[in-house]
Amino acid sequence: MSAPSTDIAILGGGLAGGLIALALATRRPELRVTVFEAGERCGGDHVWSYFASDVGDGADLLEPLVAARWDGYLVRFPKRQRSLRTPYRSVTSERLDLVLRATLPEGALLTGATVTQVAADRVTLADGRSFTTGAVIDARGAAGLAHMVGGWQKFAGQMLRLKVPHGLTHPIVMDASVAQADGYRFVYALPFTSDAVFVEDTYYSDSPSLDLPVLRQRIAAYAAAQDWRVEAIEYEETGVLPVVADGDFDAFWSAGEQPGIARAGARAGLLHPLTSYSLPIALRLAVHLCTLDKLSGEAVERACHAWAREHWRQGRFYRMLTAMLFGAAVPDQRYKVLERFYGLPEPLIERFYAGRSSSADMLRILAGKPPVPIGAAVASLRGKGRPLAPLGDSR
Ligand SMILES: Cc1cc2nc3c(=O)[nH]c(=O)nc-3n(C[C@H](O)[C@H](O)[C@H](O)COP(=O)(O)OP(=O)(O)OC[C@H]3O[C@@H](n4cnc5c(N)ncnc54)[C@H](O)[C@@H]3O)c2cc1C
Repeated sequence: MSAPSTDIAILGGGLAGGLIALALATRRPELRVTVFEAGERCGGDHVWSYFASDVGDGADLLEPLVAARWDGYLVRFPKRQRSLRTPYRSVTSERLDLVLRATLPEGALLTGATVTQVAADRVTLADGRSFTTGAVIDARGAAGLAHMVGGWQKFAGQMLRLKVPHGLTHPIVMDASVAQADGYRFVYALPFTSDAVFVEDTYYSDSPSLDLPVLRQRIAAYAAAQDWRVEAIEYEETGVLPVVADGDFDAFWSAGEQPGIARAGARAGLLHPLTSYSLPIALRLAVHLCTLDKLSGEAVERACHAWAREHWRQGRFYRMLTAMLFGAAVPDQRYKVLERFYGLPEPLIERFYAGRSSSADMLRILAGKPPVPIGAAVASLRGKGRPLAPLGDSR
């Protein structure tokens, strides 16, 4: 039998697929990896951010992707303002694309390559080209989170070029001092350069629908209220991300299962259940795959499935908090959950974002007098109280 065209086919050169390709090219250069990306460049048009404390092994892989870094961040609520010292970083899809092109061997990155058919040993593209492969990792993004319930984190973000410097030295990760609307609303602001600030209007909402003209107007109003005079809007992105409160992992996995094909990224449910961040989780899986002895199709599929299942198991506490936020809190009072959370010690907040809360952290988060009744959250998980939305049709 002739050798396959590639050892590992990665479907989708987005965040997860891109990081796996980068990790394998750097740490397992003996393997032939091919990335099939439908778009003309990897990662689309995105800014992905993370806390430096979310990332351990693999931080070196992210370094060249980082477009901006800060040594702390701010949060604002009606009754709390706080400056935290956890470093914050932003990666851009533009850099991901550049670094992948510079790192992967020639011919290993195919853009404009839409995958239409997949089998465990073959990938076929819309233009009819077909490639044999030893293993397949499907990282083509979220594909309907059937069997899960919760709500949505939805947003519109704009990179604003200002006429005069904004004077902001640190990102505002949550500014919930704004008027509440459509659930929990906050503004997120990243000062990329002295006269460029990325402003995102964000909602933890019961509905996935996004009224873009309204969000644009609110971004403009926020900028005006900060006295930021806008010269140009350089870039815009929108997102509607699932926020998971409960579900059936086995049913989710078998619904999208294709024999012998591994899954990664959002396609494998690898998102933080409450923040919907996926970058640190995607990096951890990429690093883990590099440590496998054998990267046969079967071994990679087994490893990704086990990883996703363990991620689901570890997410139980965060899903319960999501249930509290969506199921128990009256929408315009949801901000109080976060306002209280941001009064907790900084190391606890870091572990929370990293998805590594200890049992003591969990007790501390729930202890005292929570702003919403836990009984109501439990009731909603049982199908009583405020109903949680099915997430299967979020895309
Ligand atoms: C606007 C936005 C901002 C976000 N910000 C953050 C953030 O700051 N931090 C964070 O951690 N998370 C963030 N997220 C959440 C999450 O991390 C991202 O959605 C992340 O991109 C998911 O990674 P992924 O690789 O699973 O999917 P994607 O990055 O969406 O990658 C999927 C790739 O597959 C390609 N593809 C799809 N179909 C095919 C096909 N048939 N053939 C070939 N290629 C195909 C797509 O073109 C795409 O490039 C954000 C999400 C959005 C939408």
